[in-house]
Amino acid sequence: MSAAQARSAELEKLIQADPGRFRVLTGDRPTGRLHLGHYFGTLHNRVRLQGLGVEMYVIIPDYQVLTDRDVADNLTGHVEDLVLDYLATGVDPARSTIFTHSSVPALNQLLLPFLSLVSVAELSRNPTVKDEIAHSRQSFVSGLMFTYPAHQAADILFCKADLVPVGQDQLPHLELTRTIARRFNDRYGNGTPVFPQPDALLSSAPLILGTDGTKMSKSRGNAIALSADADETARLLKGAKTDSERHITYDPAGRPEVSSLLLLAALCLDRTPQQVAADIGSAGAAALKKTVTEAVNEYLAPIRARRAEYAQDRAYLRQILRDGNERARAVADTTLAEVRAAMNSHY
Ligand code: ATP
Ligand code: MG
Repeated sequence: MSAAQARSAELEKLIQADPGRFRVLTGDRPTGRLHLGHYFGTLHNRVRLQGLGVEMYVIIPDYQVLTDRDVADNLTGHVEDLVLDYLATGVDPARSTIFTHSSVPALNQLLLPFLSLVSVAELSRNPTVKDEIAHSRQSFVSGLMFTYPAHQAADILFCKADLVPVGQDQLPHLELTRTIARRFNDRYGNGTPVFPQPDALLSSAPLILGTDGTKMSKSRGNAIALSADADETARLLKGAKTDSERHITYDPAGRPEVSSLLLLAALCLDRTPQQVAADIGSAGAAALKKTVTEAVNEYLAPIRARRAEYAQDRAYLRQILRDGNERARAVADTTLAEVRAAMNSHY
């Protein structure tokens, strides 16, 4: 078990004992529809935490779409898609604040002092930034991409979140958020910390692979969207990369593609991947894909039905964002006032 997973297990105990003491920030870039990696990596955890009574903020970071591409295509459509995915999977806008990054100016102002607290070397050795640059659609690395971890620190700290349910790819970002919080407190806190040092909360599936065997991502063409229909899901899974070994076994290190498919089936069926593998045995990759397809389609059927219902009412989606943005702005204004007071910049 990794250190981050061990810490997540510890956090689970603290959450169960006193959910009211935690505040969560999570979010997804509006770059496309949410997929199975999001669901089992973080969404499921978010809904569970919301159910326990943890206060939750869900950011839709629209500026950050521009980190790795030149234009933010179909932004409104992608934002609405995210809200639909949230509603369909159980995020409740009455209990959780769903908001768009660009609508909260005070949040974005935190970026300036935060950038002053990190070195160029720290930004350039961030492995997630390196990976995202490698997959970027730009011919050069923009300043926005380079400073991505500092924006994320602003996203998380504007509401003083102390818990961030994320997939594994986000751990280096979160480490830098902790560093920024600590340095801000040391430099400006006068003995009273302004910001918490937030913890990552990993799920039991912190890295779901896509059909090509790399991290499932909205923008890599390898994802199975929650909102895909049953036929599309079957077609995509049929084309998923496996290996030439006919006997199916769960071995995440040695057989990552087969194991990720087994894990998906297991999560949908509420079984262990080893049990699913044992049932398939020597029936091969085709049988594995059939099992996964059936399991995923059955699991997602009610989520897809709810999504289709919510999609009828675009005005309601807009209202959710207007309400969420108003709540987020009030929180950000309070935090920025505190930050400016700590920095002696209120006139
Ligand atoms: P993009 O390709 O635009 O970067 P993405 O699919 O990587 O999109 P993000 O919006 O970057 O999605 O990530 C949102 C959240 O979902 C993050 O917490 C991230 O860790 C988690 N997540 C994304 N993909 C996966 C995955 N394949 N497995 C587990 N968690 C994931
Ligand atoms: Mg990503």
